[in-house]
Amino acid sequence: MLDLATLLREKYEPVIGLEIHAQLNTRSKIFCPCPADFGAEPNANTCPVCLGLPGALPTLNQGVPEKAAFAAFALNLRINEVSVFSRKNYFYPDLPKGYQISQYDQPFSVAGYVEIPTSERDETGRPIAWRLKRFRIQRMHIEEDAGKSLHEGMPDSANSSYVNLNRSGVPLVEIVSEPDFRSSWEAYDYVQYLRRALLYVNACDGNLEEGSLRCDANVSIRRRGSETLGTRTETKNLNSFRFIQRAIDYEIARQIRVIEEGGRIVQETRLWNEREARTYAMRGKEEAHDYRYFPEPDLPPLVMSAETIAALRAQTPELPEPRRRRFAEDYGLSLEDSTLMTTTREAADFFEACVKAAGGQARAAFNWIANELLARIPVEKLSLATSPVSPAGLAELIALIADGTLSNKLAKEVFEQMLTTGKPAKAIVQALGGGQVSDAGQIETIAAEVIAANPKQTAEYRAGKTPLFAFFVGQVMKATKGKANPQVVNEALKRLLDAP
Ligand code: ADP
Ligand code: MG
Ligand code: ZN
Repeated sequence: MLDLATLLREKYEPVIGLEIHAQLNTRSKIFCPCPADFGAEPNANTCPVCLGLPGALPTLNQGVPEKAAFAAFALNLRINEVSVFSRKNYFYPDLPKGYQISQYDQPFSVAGYVEIPTSERDETGRPIAWRLKRFRIQRMHIEEDAGKSLHEGMPDSANSSYVNLNRSGVPLVEIVSEPDFRSSWEAYDYVQYLRRALLYVNACDGNLEEGSLRCDANVSIRRRGSETLGTRTETKNLNSFRFIQRAIDYEIARQIRVIEEGGRIVQETRLWNEREARTYAMRGKEEAHDYRYFPEPDLPPLVMSAETIAALRAQTPELPEPRRRRFAEDYGLSLEDSTLMTTTREAADFFEACVKAAGGQARAAFNWIANELLARIPVEKLSLATSPVSPAGLAELIALIADGTLSNKLAKEVFEQMLTTGKPAKAIVQALGGGQVSDAGQIETIAAEVIAANPKQTAEYRAGKTPLFAFFVGQVMKATKGKANPQVVNEALKRLLDAP
């Protein structure tokens, strides 16, 4: 059998489609007033509706379609003016009703896409070459979450399982992509972007560890050049970006091996085991008809008028990818730099406020934020509200460099003090005894003194030992306590030393 890389290049093409469950960050659950927050005492956030007691009736939380609408705009989905809730029937110990309220043939929204940068990665995980690619999204529907079964880590888990229904009835959207991904890294870049976009519109808190974003990966392979889809497997509940990427790669390699050995892929649901870095068959894949979907009789159709949709659309902020492109064009940032500055909406707002306050000096604003500020604060945490240095404060510092008051070296010292004391740049410069000395006459006097005090080095330099130039620069800097403008120092020393 040829090696995997060759087989992938010459014979097989992976095809991947993703189903992502995102928890909408409403305060209460979808069909009852129980709190939807994570981490309460087991079963504390429950009532007859989300416990699934007979006769309890659901009523739709109006915050849910609103959040779902923002999620739809973030992914360029078209919202259906009428969508219908359906019962999806199945048995699970953490699903006491025996069905999940979901949407089926009339979903909330359809026909979306994202067009985003994506790249393969080398062995060290570094991007190789970015390009823009469009990934289509089939649909996004609204549904409720089920509870959670615990089989481990409880007092007598050897003999028992535990059920926690706090999550039962938490609002979710399921975002179903077209099978448009051709590698695990394309899938990875898509999920990263999706999280970013949902955070921008404040529809989801994006917390993967707490299960706010869960991914099922459908993977198949086919002969290169073929248009028909191969048989797929579905790997469930991947809750980290790296797991998604690694589980897909594992599954691609496994399927190629099976086919090369003359076997057949069975359509099935698989589970990723991170410790063993492999997937396991869990069960045969169920078909839609197994669920006996029918319209939910206890809820009316969900109506979103054209006016409501337009009003919500008008409140949608600029999305991360359009904003990234604007940053690249207007401020001359590279793809990596514009991606960094749009990591969160707050970071992007911070950067733009700084550029504006600095009179359009985008490069300087970027350098100070990326190299200095982000060395102290992770970019996800950068915001106007909490940054120890404000955009206007940073802009003042940039202005002091531009007008020659501060050298880059001095500016770093001032910045350090801005961070620790919270004082403005000008006040710190004053306390340090003024800024950089740029006065050519003053510097020339000092340079002349330095030359006079060092006749031996002067003679050697003039005899051709030019690396000694740095020695003279150092002496002038010492004499001025590092405040002399280095460029002016260089010019003065050149003039005096090179003069016959
Ligand atoms: P189900 O709801 O039964 O999981 P869907 O037809 O709704 O099935 O597809 C679910 C996901 O699987 C979608 O993201 C779709 O793009 C993807 N998908 C469908 N067929 C394939 C295939 N042959 N290979 C890879 N992905 C696929
Ligand atoms: Mg599915
Ligand atoms: Zn409840």
